[in-house]
Amino acid sequence: MRMRVIDVVPGQAPTFDSATAPVEPWPGRADPDDASVGRPFDQFVVKIHGRCNLACDYCYVYEMRDSGWRDRPRVMAAEVADRLIARIVEHVDRHRLGRVRVILHGGEPLLAGPEPIERFAAAIRHRLAAVGATAQLVVQSNGVLLDAALLDVLARYDIRVGLSLDGDRVAQDRHRRRADGRGTHADVARALALLELPRHRGRLEGLLCTVDLANEPRATCAALLAHRPPMIDFLLPHGTWDHPPPSGCGDGPYGRWLAAAFDHWWDAGRPVRVRLFDAVLDLWAGGAGGSEAVGLAAADAVVIETDGTYQRTDSLRAVADGATATGLDVWRHPLDAASALRALEQPTGGLDALCGICRSCPVVRVCGGGLRAHRHGRGKGFDNPSVYCRDLAILVGHVRFRMAERLSGRRASAVDGARVGEAREVVVGRSAAFD
Ligand code: SF4
Ligand code: SF4
Repeated sequence: MRMRVIDVVPGQAPTFDSATAPVEPWPGRADPDDASVGRPFDQFVVKIHGRCNLACDYCYVYEMRDSGWRDRPRVMAAEVADRLIARIVEHVDRHRLGRVRVILHGGEPLLAGPEPIERFAAAIRHRLAAVGATAQLVVQSNGVLLDAALLDVLARYDIRVGLSLDGDRVAQDRHRRRADGRGTHADVARALALLELPRHRGRLEGLLCTVDLANEPRATCAALLAHRPPMIDFLLPHGTWDHPPPSGCGDGPYGRWLAAAFDHWWDAGRPVRVRLFDAVLDLWAGGAGGSEAVGLAAADAVVIETDGTYQRTDSLRAVADGATATGLDVWRHPLDAASALRALEQPTGGLDALCGICRSCPVVRVCGGGLRAHRHGRGKGFDNPSVYCRDLAILVGHVRFRMAERLSGRRASAVDGARVGEAREVVVGRSAAFD
């Protein structure tokens, strides 16, 4: 076996403590022929278009610390897409992956228009088939441009659609607006109505909802469920210790919001998958979770920008300018080089990458310290609990309580509630230690 050639030392990894980007975020070289250094990626987030037709005020691409989008091409050029497809096929073949997931992303991917989407989908399906693999293709969109003609293209290449929707009209139009201030609820409702037509049924992948404390959680949950999506995911607005979430975290308001939304879903008999809640349930049951937001498993996805550079997960755009950059790209590096860097960054799948408070936390295997970006700041790099620590503690404690209640076959009594309250305080109290 050839020697591993990587000159990145985990202890020397950049911490992005200052507001400015490190000059060379990942100066390492990974040996492209050594496939042992990292788990392969099975998800590829492809930024097919780098701009957006909306101006959501919480947007992590345009409104956070990272400004890399300004210097990148608006659209992924055909030659970059071709090279990327070759890299994905090479990665899939080398690791004998039978099926991968490719998410066409942005900005707003539908701004690319039907032709580049069609070309990408046809090429990747064809070339993966040549190595005995298949792809689940998804376009993650704000829904505004989704019309019958585009849906026909998506249907032709079996591309599913994920839409962003924050709840009812008031909830959606509070943040998800055009540059001139007009809301988008009517546009998404129209897109969802098209997806309800018999010929498009089954094409909706799910709804992505960013939590806003101004929205009532049960009503939000009900508004999302009314569209009968196969899956819902709740996202917390991105923030760090230095740049906290918009409503602040304090004593765990997002945790209580999520717990109330969980109750609505749980009491309705879990009618659809809710990625975050299902992940917490699965983690409590000893599973791997399946959400980047909780648990200790490293992300299985890599992001590829319009210029062909490999990037870390988008949420790190909340941390600093350049925080997602790897210094790697489709022209010079196989995807194994990016997975090797991820392995160095999260060497044992998560626990060792956490701060001492998290490592000794009673719910760490379920919470996992939350998203990495949310742990950043206070001059300590990522060596903090999550800025959402109390919120996560409340959510995972609440889910555990509801599971126990179901298993015991009885409703919670006041005594049970008090016990859970105490258990929560043990966790939340720990998080108070670093105030
Ligand atoms: S639709 Fe997405 S990419 Fe566009 S502004 Fe809103 S959050 Fe940002
Ligand atoms: S609840 Fe707080 S201390 Fe515990 S693992 Fe999560 S972020 Fe860390």
